[in-house]
Amino acid sequence: MNGLMMNYQLTMDRILEHANRMYPQKRITTMQPDGSFHRYTYADMYRRVKRLAKALTTLGVAPGDRVGTFAWNNYQHLELYYAIPGAGAVCHTLNIRLFPEQLAYIVNHAEDKVVFIDSTLLPLYERVADQINCVEHYVLLNAPRDIKTGLSNVLFYEDLIEGADEDFAWRSTDENMAMGLCYTSGTTGDPKGALYSHRSMFLHTYGENQANALGLNESDIVLPVVPQFHAMAWGLPYASAMAGAEMVMPGPHLQAEPLANMIANERVTVAAGVPTIWNGLYHELRQNPRDISCVRALVVGGSAMPRALTKAYESELGVSVVHAWGMTELSPLGTVCNLLGKHEDLPDEEKWNIKATQGYPICGVEMRIVDEMGESLPWDGETMGELQVRGPWIIRQYFRRDVSEDYMTTDGWFRTGDVSTINPDGYMNITDRTKDLVKSGGEWISTVELENMIMAHPQVLEAAVIAVPDEKWQERPLAAIVPTQDGQSLTAEDITAFLQDKVAKFWIPERFIFVQEIPKTSVGKFNKKVLRSAYAEGELG
Ligand code: ADP
Repeated sequence: MNGLMMNYQLTMDRILEHANRMYPQKRITTMQPDGSFHRYTYADMYRRVKRLAKALTTLGVAPGDRVGTFAWNNYQHLELYYAIPGAGAVCHTLNIRLFPEQLAYIVNHAEDKVVFIDSTLLPLYERVADQINCVEHYVLLNAPRDIKTGLSNVLFYEDLIEGADEDFAWRSTDENMAMGLCYTSGTTGDPKGALYSHRSMFLHTYGENQANALGLNESDIVLPVVPQFHAMAWGLPYASAMAGAEMVMPGPHLQAEPLANMIANERVTVAAGVPTIWNGLYHELRQNPRDISCVRALVVGGSAMPRALTKAYESELGVSVVHAWGMTELSPLGTVCNLLGKHEDLPDEEKWNIKATQGYPICGVEMRIVDEMGESLPWDGETMGELQVRGPWIIRQYFRRDVSEDYMTTDGWFRTGDVSTINPDGYMNITDRTKDLVKSGGEWISTVELENMIMAHPQVLEAAVIAVPDEKWQERPLAAIVPTQDGQSLTAEDITAFLQDKVAKFWIPERFIFVQEIPKTSVGKFNKKVLRSAYAEGELG
């Protein structure tokens, strides 16, 4: 039809070209494995990405091939985020915390042709190398010349870049080409791959950068603590380049102390990570205060941010918390919790109630909640139902798997496996994962909500609640609690008394155990599967 727009392909190289043209001097800072800092600019990165993309083609990487990365958040990994898709190939981020057999499974399932490995992670990879049969070349990052390895066909990252020139035309010519592949951490069954296209990731980047979402801008300094091997570091490498924001990459330094120093010294304005990271940081800052009021948004997702922790950051540290919800299958961003104009004059306590929810969908994500028959439920803030979503950056099928009604409805909605409410303003609140809910005497108990209540106790560091079988009620909640250092004498009675006026009586657990640590999944969430099986085997008393 006459008068339509240009057919402009939404490919990731456009974002890098834009950053190089508009923000060439903006910096990217990496904390190296030895604790020193590597600093360079988007212009430096651009030139190296071109060379790297060219080198990949020389290695025989063809459009559509998968190339694995096994690395921390650092400048080389950022280069790979652009060079692999720019060469027309698919950047397959390998989760370094997977069990060995799962790691071997995903490399083989994706048929990765080349794998880039950070030398600090080499021993982890070598454990499974003999189970892997598809990789033609390994490329080592940050490796000394005399490094010993049992891997064959090994190259050095810097050699690859030095050996190529910048004269390279992007091979990402069609927005529907695949650009990224990320497997879910596989808390149940084999890991499943979400395959992103240039178009889906480009639109996700626009979505993330809406002012109503994270809205990164040119004066931001962004610290993705969320790993690049997990859900594309929540898209921040792309969103930062699009906005011209500077980046601080923590490398392997994910402990509270170096993070606190990095935030304070590099004047970070947006930091993103899971609640356990921010919980650790908060306790570190209580012991050794630093001024982190430079942070305008502490972005948190991956699991529910306890309300008490949001309150602590906002009231004690002057840091605004932005709760978000997403999934690997959603590229990953789905909802963001910013306050609306009409919330501005509310008392702080009410604002924190809102901020404890996962927020509203960003434009590009549609959501609904349904009952067991698949009927839509009202957005009244009370009715719980299965959360379903659809949109241009949501998978319609897992990589190399059949479509299944386990995760797609017949009318085209993705079933998240989360149970939530939605209030009349569109704020979604996750009550649980379908499989974690406690069904007690025909009523549902939200383990997430109970955990948040318990973690509001000043002497509780962490709390995880699981369903355990019960003769009378079918299931009852059990709370596993990690006390803080000054809470070592905490008792079940203390917690019961604390919960008395906060939750319905039947929600209060009768079973408490006090532990040193809650087991965590590969991406730092409470591993309830491990807790449940420990209980079933009598290990939790
Ligand atoms: P996996 O845990 O399988 O690796 P993801 O990391 O993609 O998968 O996690 C997606 C799930 O994490 C969501 O379905 C939801 O259960 C949980 N989740 C993510 N963000 C939040 C949040 N802000 N609050 C509660 N749960 C969350």
